[in-house]
Amino acid sequence: MKITEIRFGKLRVPLKTPFKTALRTVEEVEDIVVMVHTDTGHVGYGEAPATAVITGDTHGSILDAIRHYIAPRLIGQEVANLNRLTRLIQGAMERNTSAKAAVEIAVYDLWGQLYGAPLYRLLGGGDPVITTDITISVDYIDKMVADSVAAVERGFESLKIKVGKDIGVDIERVKAIYAAVADRALLRLDANQGWTAKQAVYALQTLEDAGVRLELVEQPVKARDLEGMRYVTERVHTPVMADESVFGPQEVIDLIRLRAADIINIKLMKTGGLSNAIRIADIAALYGVECMIGCMLEAAVSVTAAVHLAVARADVITKVDLDGPSLGRFNPVDGGVIFNESEITITDAPGLGIREIRGLDMID
Ligand code: MG
Repeated sequence: MKITEIRFGKLRVPLKTPFKTALRTVEEVEDIVVMVHTDTGHVGYGEAPATAVITGDTHGSILDAIRHYIAPRLIGQEVANLNRLTRLIQGAMERNTSAKAAVEIAVYDLWGQLYGAPLYRLLGGGDPVITTDITISVDYIDKMVADSVAAVERGFESLKIKVGKDIGVDIERVKAIYAAVADRALLRLDANQGWTAKQAVYALQTLEDAGVRLELVEQPVKARDLEGMRYVTERVHTPVMADESVFGPQEVIDLIRLRAADIINIKLMKTGGLSNAIRIADIAALYGVECMIGCMLEAAVSVTAAVHLAVARADVITKVDLDGPSLGRFNPVDGGVIFNESEITITDAPGLGIREIRGLDMID
């Protein structure tokens, strides 16, 4: 099975409700889909969103990176040589992690198809069912409480609460949500870099003193402020998780050695795909550090790849935040994993199991 061509499409899925964080507001998922064609007729699927405020990748930069830097290295290569392919992708250029992720996901999909097995089995196997949390966007307190109650009634047992706007209101937001759902769901806070280190310590200590128990707090301070992350980690009981602060394996090693966080959020769009995500999971396991698997505003192509990884590394990836597809009004992907509210199940189909993506606008 040799790679012959890489084609592109654009996928749009309107969201049920706007996605609001301390960094941005988004109304619809709008992603680049990558289709890697082969001489055997098999097609591998990958996907990447534009996340300019986090990775720096835009649709234009993703297309240009793949067309002019990554694709020329892959045409004519054998899918069986997976490690060689991932090296070619990662070494094609600096950064551009979302472009690399989209292509790697498609290549791993083909690798699974080549051997006729679902990807998670080739990555070591596992129980093909996982449970995800769901995001509660930052909003007026009453709206966040109502959204949280609705999510719990849909069966979600973990809620990811977006905060990081105004520290005083953030504390009231969390107290109100905790009062409404604490006996039925775990709460994860995501501040999306919205606080200073001192604000974060103040907010978390205030919540802890008020009896609010949180499963974790994610990225309280600016991405580059590792000292700030450590400052918070040292001073609060609530476990601190790094998201925007760590992209690749090297940064994970630095973060762990600095003891700047307790948990690491792995996202394929930050790692540049599956090969480095696997490395991070294995490094974290070595140090006894737990991981979350997360996603950007992604549809069910790239999230499917993340689910396969989560299952194969379930010993260390103990927390799942793969709610991208369930935030959309519909799932355009035929095949792939099955989303049923909080439960995600992998089928026996080879690779990622994607048969078709409906409503894809092809890009010439
Ligand atoms: Mg986050």
